[in-house]
Amino acid sequence: MTEREAHPTIDIAANLAAVQARIAAAARGAGRDPASVTLVAVSKLHGVDAIRAAIASGQRVFGENRVQEAQAKWPELKREFPDIVLHLIGPLQTNKVGDAVELFDVIETVDREKLAIRLQSALARLDRAPPRLFVQVNTGEEPQKAGIAPGEADAFIAACRDTHGLSIDGLMCIPPVDEEPSPHFALLAKIAARNRLARLSMGMSADFEVAVAFGATHVRVGTAIFGPR
Ligand SMILES: *Cc1c(COP(=O)(O)O)cnc(C)c1O
Repeated sequence: MTEREAHPTIDIAANLAAVQARIAAAARGAGRDPASVTLVAVSKLHGVDAIRAAIASGQRVFGENRVQEAQAKWPELKREFPDIVLHLIGPLQTNKVGDAVELFDVIETVDREKLAIRLQSALARLDRAPPRLFVQVNTGEEPQKAGIAPGEADAFIAACRDTHGLSIDGLMCIPPVDEEPSPHFALLAKIAARNRLARLSMGMSADFEVAVAFGATHVRVGTAIFGPR
């Protein structure tokens, strides 16, 4: 794991303010309340100095894509700032489920039966508030990408709820890098609506305003806040 030093020419406070302003403008443009969109600041591969700069400017919701990296960076920060909300936005291996439910407040990447089974037993043993769970949908049906296929999403969500006793709160997607993202955002919103899911995690640095227009309640923004990784 390489952790970058906070880049001297990157003004994290100014970047956060700019991203928040763009989210608010996109929300108003779509007739939505800006407060209905949560900015998840993606701090993967950035060090604690950069994270502390974001916390100092009021940011409290963060995203990491690896359990091990997050374990090295976050336990102390979370003790110091108990209102921090940490999202897992990367694939979750079944052998890391116990660690993930201890550290993360939201797990956005529930995407297969075996993982749902492990989550159920880990949550039964957990003595803190359980993390919220989102199902990741592979909207582009890319073979190398995590996520349940769109055609299997309804059945998987139902199995999570009815068979595995998991409370599912939302959906997450990462559109293919080389495609127009809006059809993917529209598809995710449609799957969420028919499964009565109110939360949608979609949109990154390059496309978060489009995602807000399509109903994102959570946008995951890294580069536009912390600079290149
Ligand atoms: C890294 C990452 C992001 C943030 O990407 P940027 O383009 O840096 O904003 C968002 N979502 C996921 C799942 C990621 O892994």
